[in-house]
Amino acid sequence: MTTSPTAPSAHRGPGPADGLSVAIDIGGTKIAGALVHPDGSMTATTRRPTPRGTDAEGVMAAVAEVVADLARSPLWPSVVRCGVGSAGPVDTSRGTVSPVNIAAWRGFPVLARVSAELAAHGARIPAVLAGDGVAMTAAEHWLGAARGHADALCMVVSTGVGGGLVLNNRLHPGPTGNAGHIGHISVAFDGEPCVCGGRGCVESIASGTAIARWARSQGWTPAGDQDATAAGVAAAARAGEPVAVAAFDRAGRALAAAIAATATLVETGIAVIGGGVAASGDTLFEPVRRHLASYATLSFVRDLRVVPASLGTDAGLIGAAAAATMLLNGRTAPPTA
Ligand SMILES: [Zn+2]
Repeated sequence: MTTSPTAPSAHRGPGPADGLSVAIDIGGTKIAGALVHPDGSMTATTRRPTPRGTDAEGVMAAVAEVVADLARSPLWPSVVRCGVGSAGPVDTSRGTVSPVNIAAWRGFPVLARVSAELAAHGARIPAVLAGDGVAMTAAEHWLGAARGHADALCMVVSTGVGGGLVLNNRLHPGPTGNAGHIGHISVAFDGEPCVCGGRGCVESIASGTAIARWARSQGWTPAGDQDATAAGVAAAARAGEPVAVAAFDRAGRALAAAIAATATLVETGIAVIGGGVAASGDTLFEPVRRHLASYATLSFVRDLRVVPASLGTDAGLIGAAAAATMLLNGRTAPPTA
């Protein structure tokens, strides 16, 4: 977690170098907001639980409350941009989101609606929408483990597997904001069907859900105070339980193959992994790094490093601000919402 001031550095590439950013982070359990300073510190941090059992407007009402909280800050007149990070799928070409974990929002025009809330509080500022994987990538490049790397793959391994790319010091979200969606590239071409309709996807092997499902299918059951999730499997793996060790080995191998493929395509020198499953530390990173040697074999990817993300729970808000700054950088006119 990084909220302390961070000195500017020449090598970090475009970041929120000037002006105050409004950051909004929309997820399945909470909607968070903050004003993010040029040094990455945050003020006026606020949050609401994501409403359940309501319609699209009910969820939007919570977002509007977060904006209203931020607008009460004495710093509000200084805001110059807004970044909205959201759970996916997102379509940034339309400014819409259909988060898997927010059932009431399907094709919801969140960017236009947030812009209207900002304007209602006197802030007619450009706003940018980013998927949570892309936002996390922007955060790690600005202040985290990918800092100083012109080319980086960042990924989130939790309930699902998401990610994003920085190429030549620029965030690369792609036309609809989904570039770097490493969870749905296939690492087993005749593997199990994936929820996306594909086969053998990274997510279907390496997500926390997949790790727990596979371990249970192989006869693993939680012991003592372990639970039946990937965290329980990780605890069992640390204790040397063979099925749990194999579950993490299999997940690490899938991640290694995907990371090596990505690095071979676009020459990234570093892969940053965050999310709940990455919190298991070496239980995940040891098999990833070991298997990487089998897949990242060409001279230009042999030195590829795989490291943990460093921003933790603040990555969503910092990432929303960083993505807005990186994506607005060089634009001469605010985007139309
Ligand atoms: Zn898939």
